[in-house]
Amino acid sequence: MDQNEKSRGLLPESKENADISVVSTKRVVLTDKHSLFQMQEMIKPAAEALKKGELAVFPTETVYGLGAGIYSEEGIKRIFQVKGRPSDNPLIVHIADINETADLIHDSAPDLFYKLAERFWPGPVTFVLPKSHKISDTVSGGKPSVAIRFPSHPIAQILINLAGQPIAAPSANISGKPSSTRSEHLQELVGKVEWIIDNGPITIGLESTIISLLQTPPVLLRPGPITVEKLKEIIPNLEFNLKSSKALAPGMKYRHYAPEALIKLVPWTENLSKLVKDVEEYYICLREEKKEILILATAETINYYTARGYSAISMGSRSNLYSIAQNLFHALRTIDALGYRWGIIEGFEEAGLGFALMNRIEKAASGRS
Ligand code: AMP
Ligand code: MG
Repeated sequence: MDQNEKSRGLLPESKENADISVVSTKRVVLTDKHSLFQMQEMIKPAAEALKKGELAVFPTETVYGLGAGIYSEEGIKRIFQVKGRPSDNPLIVHIADINETADLIHDSAPDLFYKLAERFWPGPVTFVLPKSHKISDTVSGGKPSVAIRFPSHPIAQILINLAGQPIAAPSANISGKPSSTRSEHLQELVGKVEWIIDNGPITIGLESTIISLLQTPPVLLRPGPITVEKLKEIIPNLEFNLKSSKALAPGMKYRHYAPEALIKLVPWTENLSKLVKDVEEYYICLREEKKEILILATAETINYYTARGYSAISMGSRSNLYSIAQNLFHALRTIDALGYRWGIIEGFEEAGLGFALMNRIEKAASGRS
């Protein structure tokens, strides 16, 4: 029996072993020094392999994705196995040309879709539309709809173009854990995927905004880099109630973004002296219980903690929430990497990008503190 086939779970008898099978991982490292032509040559083998059911981790502008060709059902199934992802949590389908949408959706897209796509694509926003027969139930988690995104990252676009088909890709992390935004985060997928296209740190660091166009008015399913404020310029009546206990996007009911450590979120207040005192109170309280704690602070507050000998790292400056977004998942992962059992994280104002940041932070902390 071909060991490769066995390890990919292509043969029925290896089915129950599929999630523990080991594959050999090839890493392709791409930097700014590579020309477009060099990039294409280096990406080509991974793109070809996607057609045969192999998996490729690749950079996008939001977070690293774990991709399979949408017409390779074996590859799609393996995404769920590798991540330990519940089968009813659908995948986002990535395209490299707005015209590819027509093939993937049932009927024609509403005018509003074209208006939004023209403004925000390629870019960090995903639209949910009724799916065509080309989208398997595995990709859509059994739903009659499909989530589609046209990423702006050149490597993602090259990979999709060379694969000759859209690529379904959730974030490249074990289900429930923080998404991957740096090369070192991809280590957990070595031996589980055939290809890692490594492009270093990711630019944005938060997953795409998701909007459902299945109803009028459209509904925000996940806040992200394209902010509510920007969306409202085109969809003034955009609906959202992300704090409702009723899960809107199927994935929203699952635990997300959480490290092994327990996370305590200290609510934002404009008064930073109060915020640091609130953090300190928790720190001292937990320390008395002999807990090992790391504070996820900001450039504006870190000195307060370090001056007192508390363990703390900075996620970036409050005056530039993009820097916080870039570092958030790395900071959450750092708590585990350094062996701390508790993390105390400062909150942010829920405006602009802060709304998406707090959505991720609240999920990382939910039910654990
Ligand atoms: P991730 O792949 O981890 O970024 O998660 C993708 C998100 O997109 C999940 O939260 C899904 O619930 C959401 N999603 C994907 N497809 C659909 C769909 N057809 N309807 C609603 N939400 C979707
Ligand atoms: Mg994810």
